[in-house]
Amino acid sequence: MSGKLYLCGTPIGNLEDASYRLVRTLSQVDLIAAEDTRNTLKLLNHFEIKTPLTSYHEHNKAQKAPWLLAQLEAGSQIAVVSDAGMPGISDPGADLVRQCVEQNIAVTVIPGPTAAVTGLVLSGLDSRRFVFEGFLPQEKKERRMVLEALQKEHRTMVFYEAPHRLEETLEAFMQTFGASRQMATARELTKKFEEVRRGSIAQIIAHYQENPPKGEFVLLVEGVSLWQQEAQKAEDWQKISVLSHMEHYLSQGMSEKDAMKQVAKDRKVGKREIYRQLHITKEEE
Ligand code: SAM
Repeated sequence: MSGKLYLCGTPIGNLEDASYRLVRTLSQVDLIAAEDTRNTLKLLNHFEIKTPLTSYHEHNKAQKAPWLLAQLEAGSQIAVVSDAGMPGISDPGADLVRQCVEQNIAVTVIPGPTAAVTGLVLSGLDSRRFVFEGFLPQEKKERRMVLEALQKEHRTMVFYEAPHRLEETLEAFMQTFGASRQMATARELTKKFEEVRRGSIAQIIAHYQENPPKGEFVLLVEGVSLWQQEAQKAEDWQKISVLSHMEHYLSQGMSEKDAMKQVAKDRKVGKREIYRQLHITKEEE
Protein backbone atom coordinates (compact mmCIF):
# COMPACT_ATOMS: atom_id res chain seq x y z
CA MET A 1 0.00 0.00 0.00
CA SER A 2 1.42 3.39 -0.90
CA GLY A 3 1.74 6.16 1.63
CA LYS A 4 0.66 9.76 1.62
CA LEU A 5 2.28 13.16 1.19
CA TYR A 6 1.06 15.90 3.56
CA LEU A 7 1.73 19.48 2.42
CA CYS A 8 1.83 21.36 5.69
CA GLY A 9 1.46 25.10 6.06
CA THR A 10 3.48 26.42 9.02
CA PRO A 11 3.33 29.80 10.84
CA ILE A 12 4.86 32.84 9.10
CA GLY A 13 6.13 34.27 12.38
CA ASN A 14 3.76 33.60 15.24
CA LEU A 15 3.92 29.98 16.41
CA GLU A 16 0.42 30.30 17.89
CA ASP A 17 -0.85 30.19 14.29
CA ALA A 18 0.00 26.47 14.14
CA SER A 19 -3.26 24.55 13.94
CA TYR A 20 -4.12 21.50 16.06
CA ARG A 21 -4.23 19.54 12.84
CA LEU A 22 -0.72 20.70 11.89
CA VAL A 23 0.71 19.67 15.26
CA ARG A 24 -1.07 16.31 15.17
CA THR A 25 0.00 15.60 11.58
CA LEU A 26 3.64 16.50 12.22
CA SER A 27 3.58 14.25 15.32
CA GLN A 28 2.03 11.28 13.52
CA VAL A 29 3.82 11.13 10.15
CA ASP A 30 6.88 8.89 9.69
CA LEU A 31 9.11 11.64 8.33
CA ILE A 32 9.16 15.42 7.83
CA ALA A 33 10.88 16.75 4.70
CA ALA A 34 11.91 20.30 5.64
CA GLU A 35 13.42 23.15 3.64
CA ASP A 36 15.77 23.92 6.53
CA THR A 37 15.90 21.22 9.21
CA ARG A 38 17.41 23.55 11.85
CA ASN A 39 14.62 26.04 11.35
CA THR A 40 11.89 23.40 11.49
CA LEU A 41 13.47 21.90 14.60
CA LYS A 42 12.53 25.10 16.47
CA LEU A 43 8.89 24.51 15.54
CA LEU A 44 9.10 20.82 16.48
CA ASN A 45 10.77 21.58 19.82
CA HIS A 46 8.13 24.18 20.65
CA PHE A 47 5.39 21.56 20.24
CA GLU A 48 7.51 18.67 21.60
CA ILE A 49 7.32 16.78 18.32
CA LYS A 50 9.92 14.03 17.93
CA THR A 51 9.34 12.99 14.28
CA PRO A 52 12.56 12.47 12.26
CA LEU A 53 13.54 15.24 9.83
CA THR A 54 15.19 15.17 6.44
CA SER A 55 16.16 18.09 4.23
CA TYR A 56 14.32 18.86 1.01
CA HIS A 57 15.16 22.19 -0.62
CA GLU A 58 15.71 23.95 -3.95
CA HIS A 59 19.30 22.66 -4.27
CA ASN A 60 18.79 18.98 -3.39
CA LYS A 61 15.24 18.44 -4.64
CA ALA A 62 16.30 16.69 -7.88
CA GLN A 63 18.40 14.09 -5.97
CA LYS A 64 16.08 13.84 -2.97
CA ALA A 65 12.71 13.45 -4.73
CA PRO A 66 13.27 9.88 -6.04
CA TRP A 67 14.16 8.72 -2.53
CA LEU A 68 11.11 10.43 -0.98
CA LEU A 69 8.87 8.95 -3.70
CA ALA A 70 10.30 5.47 -3.02
CA GLN A 71 9.52 5.90 0.70
CA LEU A 72 5.98 6.97 -0.14
CA GLU A 73 5.51 4.00 -2.48
CA ALA A 74 6.68 1.73 0.32
CA GLY A 75 3.88 3.09 2.52
CA SER A 76 5.46 6.03 4.42
CA GLN A 77 3.47 9.04 5.54
CA ILE A 78 5.62 12.10 4.77
CA ALA A 79 5.02 15.75 5.65
CA VAL A 80 6.59 18.55 3.61
CA VAL A 81 7.21 21.88 5.30
CA SER A 82 9.01 25.02 4.19
CA ASP A 83 10.68 27.58 6.44
CA ALA A 84 7.42 29.46 6.80
CA GLY A 85 3.97 29.53 5.24
CA MET A 86 2.64 27.22 2.57
CA PRO A 87 5.00 24.86 0.74
CA GLY A 88 4.79 25.45 -3.01
CA ILE A 89 4.21 29.21 -2.62
CA SER A 90 7.60 30.74 -3.54
CA ASP A 91 8.97 27.68 -1.73
CA PRO A 92 9.73 24.04 -2.62
CA GLY A 93 6.87 21.55 -2.72
CA ALA A 94 5.13 21.96 -6.07
CA ASP A 95 7.50 19.56 -7.89
CA LEU A 96 6.92 16.84 -5.35
CA VAL A 97 3.15 17.19 -5.66
CA ARG A 98 3.38 16.87 -9.45
CA GLN A 99 5.55 13.76 -9.16
CA CYS A 100 3.16 12.18 -6.63
CA VAL A 101 0.23 12.92 -8.94
CA GLU A 102 2.11 11.28 -11.83
CA GLN A 103 2.82 8.20 -9.73
CA ASN A 104 -0.66 7.96 -8.23
CA ILE A 105 0.57 8.64 -4.71
CA ALA A 106 -2.00 10.26 -2.42
CA VAL A 107 -1.41 13.91 -1.55
CA THR A 108 -3.26 16.05 0.95
CA VAL A 109 -2.82 19.49 2.47
CA ILE A 110 -2.85 20.85 5.98
CA PRO A 111 -3.60 24.50 5.18
CA GLY A 112 -1.80 27.22 7.09
CA PRO A 113 -0.95 30.88 6.76
CA THR A 114 0.60 32.32 3.65
CA ALA A 115 2.14 35.80 3.66
CA ALA A 116 0.54 36.77 0.32
CA VAL A 117 -3.07 36.30 1.42
CA THR A 118 -2.40 37.57 4.95
CA GLY A 119 -0.91 40.78 3.50
CA LEU A 120 -3.68 41.12 0.93
CA VAL A 121 -6.55 41.03 3.40
CA LEU A 122 -4.77 43.49 5.67
CA SER A 123 -3.85 45.92 2.89
CA GLY A 124 -7.29 47.43 2.44
CA LEU A 125 -6.90 47.07 -1.34
CA ASP A 126 -9.50 45.23 -3.40
CA SER A 127 -9.24 41.56 -2.42
CA ARG A 128 -12.06 40.22 -4.61
CA ARG A 129 -9.64 39.50 -7.43
CA PHE A 130 -5.87 39.42 -7.14
CA VAL A 131 -2.78 38.12 -8.89
CA PHE A 132 0.17 36.62 -7.04
CA GLU A 133 3.54 37.44 -8.62
CA GLY A 134 5.88 36.22 -5.85
CA PHE A 135 9.45 37.54 -6.21
CA LEU A 136 10.19 39.61 -9.30
CA PRO A 137 13.14 38.37 -11.37
CA GLN A 138 16.43 39.92 -10.21
CA GLU A 139 17.75 40.38 -13.73
CA LYS A 140 16.77 43.92 -14.82
CA LYS A 141 15.58 43.16 -18.36
CA GLU A 142 13.51 40.19 -17.24
CA ARG A 143 12.01 42.22 -14.39
CA ARG A 144 11.08 45.05 -16.78
CA MET A 145 9.33 42.54 -19.05
CA VAL A 146 7.33 41.08 -16.17
CA LEU A 147 6.32 44.55 -14.95
CA GLU A 148 5.41 45.75 -18.45
CA ALA A 149 3.06 42.80 -18.80
CA LEU A 150 1.39 43.98 -15.57
CA GLN A 151 0.95 47.59 -16.66
CA LYS A 152 -2.72 47.11 -17.52
CA GLU A 153 -3.45 44.52 -14.83
CA HIS A 154 -6.75 45.40 -13.18
CA ARG A 155 -6.53 42.94 -10.26
CA THR A 156 -4.61 43.74 -7.07
CA MET A 157 -1.00 42.56 -7.52
CA VAL A 158 0.87 40.78 -4.73
CA PHE A 159 4.67 40.57 -4.61
CA TYR A 160 7.27 39.24 -2.19
CA GLU A 161 10.46 41.19 -1.62
CA ALA A 162 13.56 41.12 0.55
CA PRO A 163 14.29 44.35 2.50
CA HIS A 164 17.62 45.03 0.74
CA ARG A 165 15.88 45.02 -2.65
CA LEU A 166 12.81 47.01 -1.59
CA GLU A 167 13.99 50.44 -2.73
CA GLU A 168 14.92 49.21 -6.22
CA THR A 169 11.60 47.38 -6.58
CA LEU A 170 9.57 50.41 -5.47
CA GLU A 171 11.42 52.54 -8.05
CA ALA A 172 10.57 49.97 -10.71
CA PHE A 173 6.90 50.11 -9.58
CA MET A 174 6.98 53.90 -9.94
CA GLN A 175 8.27 53.62 -13.50
CA THR A 176 5.68 51.00 -14.43
CA PHE A 177 2.56 52.08 -12.58
CA GLY A 178 3.18 55.82 -12.00
CA ALA A 179 3.73 57.78 -8.78
CA SER A 180 0.08 58.10 -7.80
CA ARG A 181 -0.95 54.42 -7.99
CA GLN A 182 -2.07 53.22 -4.54
CA MET A 183 -0.15 50.45 -2.83
CA ALA A 184 0.56 48.91 0.56
CA THR A 185 3.50 47.26 2.24
CA ALA A 186 2.78 44.55 4.81
CA ARG A 187 5.81 44.00 7.02
CA GLU A 188 6.61 41.36 9.65
CA LEU A 189 3.12 39.87 9.48
CA THR A 190 1.94 38.08 12.64
CA LYS A 191 5.15 39.16 14.43
CA LYS A 192 5.82 41.72 17.16
CA PHE A 193 6.59 44.55 14.73
CA GLU A 194 3.79 43.85 12.25
CA GLU A 195 3.13 46.99 10.23
CA VAL A 196 1.02 47.92 7.22
CA ARG A 197 1.75 51.10 5.31
CA ARG A 198 -0.71 52.40 2.76
CA GLY A 199 -0.39 55.23 0.25
CA SER A 200 0.70 56.18 -3.24
CA ILE A 201 3.87 54.60 -4.63
CA ALA A 202 5.61 58.01 -4.26
CA GLN A 203 4.56 58.27 -0.58
CA ILE A 204 5.76 54.75 0.17
CA ILE A 205 9.12 55.46 -1.50
CA ALA A 206 9.50 58.66 0.53
CA HIS A 207 8.76 56.75 3.75
CA TYR A 208 11.41 54.09 3.15
CA GLN A 209 13.99 56.71 2.14
CA GLU A 210 13.55 58.15 5.64
CA ASN A 211 13.13 54.78 7.39
CA PRO A 212 15.36 52.04 5.96
CA PRO A 213 13.31 48.85 5.47
CA LYS A 214 13.80 45.97 7.91
CA GLY A 215 12.15 42.55 8.10
CA GLU A 216 10.00 40.60 5.69
CA PHE A 217 7.72 42.34 3.22
CA VAL A 218 4.68 41.67 1.08
CA LEU A 219 4.03 44.41 -1.48
CA LEU A 220 0.55 45.02 -2.80
CA VAL A 221 -0.25 47.27 -5.73
CA GLU A 222 -3.71 48.38 -6.73
CA GLY A 223 -4.75 47.27 -10.21
CA VAL A 224 -5.68 49.85 -12.79
CA SER A 225 -9.46 50.11 -12.60
CA LEU A 226 -11.51 49.00 -15.60
CA TRP A 227 -13.23 52.36 -15.36
CA GLN A 228 -9.84 54.13 -15.62
CA GLN A 229 -8.94 51.98 -18.62
CA GLU A 230 -12.23 52.89 -20.26
CA ALA A 231 -11.70 56.58 -19.47
CA GLN A 232 -8.22 56.36 -21.02
CA LYS A 233 -9.63 54.77 -24.16
CA ALA A 234 -12.34 57.46 -24.39
CA GLU A 235 -9.63 60.11 -23.97
CA ASP A 236 -7.58 58.49 -26.75
CA TRP A 237 -10.56 58.60 -29.13
CA GLN A 238 -10.92 62.36 -28.44
CA LYS A 239 -7.55 62.81 -30.13
CA ILE A 240 -9.14 62.16 -33.53
CA SER A 241 -12.12 63.94 -35.10
CA VAL A 242 -15.60 62.42 -35.02
CA LEU A 243 -15.42 62.14 -38.80
CA SER A 244 -12.14 60.12 -38.73
CA HIS A 245 -13.59 58.03 -35.94
CA MET A 246 -16.65 57.25 -38.11
CA GLU A 247 -14.43 56.47 -41.12
CA HIS A 248 -12.45 54.05 -38.97
CA TYR A 249 -15.56 51.88 -38.51
CA LEU A 250 -17.06 52.47 -41.98
CA SER A 251 -13.80 51.23 -43.54
CA GLN A 252 -14.27 48.00 -41.55
CA GLY A 253 -17.62 47.48 -43.35
CA MET A 254 -19.92 48.72 -40.58
CA SER A 255 -23.19 50.36 -41.55
CA GLU A 256 -23.49 54.10 -40.91
CA LYS A 257 -26.03 53.43 -38.13
CA ASP A 258 -23.81 50.89 -36.35
CA ALA A 259 -20.70 53.04 -36.78
CA MET A 260 -22.49 56.00 -35.20
CA LYS A 261 -23.63 53.82 -32.29
CA GLN A 262 -20.07 52.52 -31.73
CA VAL A 263 -18.50 56.00 -32.01
CA ALA A 264 -20.97 57.31 -29.44
CA LYS A 265 -20.11 54.41 -27.13
CA ASP A 266 -16.32 54.90 -27.54
CA ARG A 267 -16.56 58.63 -26.85
CA LYS A 268 -19.01 58.12 -24.00
CA VAL A 269 -21.59 60.50 -25.48
CA GLY A 270 -25.07 60.02 -26.90
CA LYS A 271 -25.76 59.20 -30.58
CA ARG A 272 -27.47 62.59 -30.98
CA GLU A 273 -24.20 64.31 -30.08
CA ILE A 274 -22.33 62.34 -32.77
CA TYR A 275 -25.04 63.12 -35.29
CA ARG A 276 -24.87 66.83 -34.36
CA GLN A 277 -21.08 66.95 -34.67
CA LEU A 278 -21.11 65.17 -38.02
CA HIS A 279 -23.77 67.57 -39.25
CA ILE A 280 -21.69 70.59 -38.21
CA THR A 281 -18.60 69.10 -39.90
CA LYS A 282 -20.57 68.51 -43.12
CA GLU A 283 -22.01 72.06 -43.05
CA GLU A 284 -18.51 73.47 -42.61
CA GLU A 285 -17.26 71.53 -45.68
N1 SAM B 1 5.88 29.99 1.48
C1 SAM B 1 5.79 31.31 2.04
C2 SAM B 1 4.34 31.75 2.11
O1 SAM B 1 3.45 30.89 1.99
O2 SAM B 1 4.07 32.93 2.29
C3 SAM B 1 6.66 32.30 1.30
C4 SAM B 1 8.12 31.97 1.32
S1 SAM B 1 9.12 33.11 0.49
C5 SAM B 1 10.64 32.24 0.36
C6 SAM B 1 9.54 34.28 1.72
C7 SAM B 1 8.90 35.66 1.46
O3 SAM B 1 7.55 35.66 1.93
C8 SAM B 1 9.57 36.81 2.21
O4 SAM B 1 10.68 37.31 1.51
C9 SAM B 1 8.45 37.82 2.30
O5 SAM B 1 8.32 38.51 1.10
C10 SAM B 1 7.24 36.91 2.50
N2 SAM B 1 6.99 36.69 3.94
C11 SAM B 1 7.14 35.55 4.63
N3 SAM B 1 6.80 35.74 5.92
C12 SAM B 1 6.39 37.02 6.04
C13 SAM B 1 5.92 37.82 7.11
N4 SAM B 1 5.80 37.34 8.33
N5 SAM B 1 5.60 39.12 6.85
C14 SAM B 1 5.72 39.62 5.61
N6 SAM B 1 6.18 38.92 4.57
C15 SAM B 1 6.51 37.63 4.77
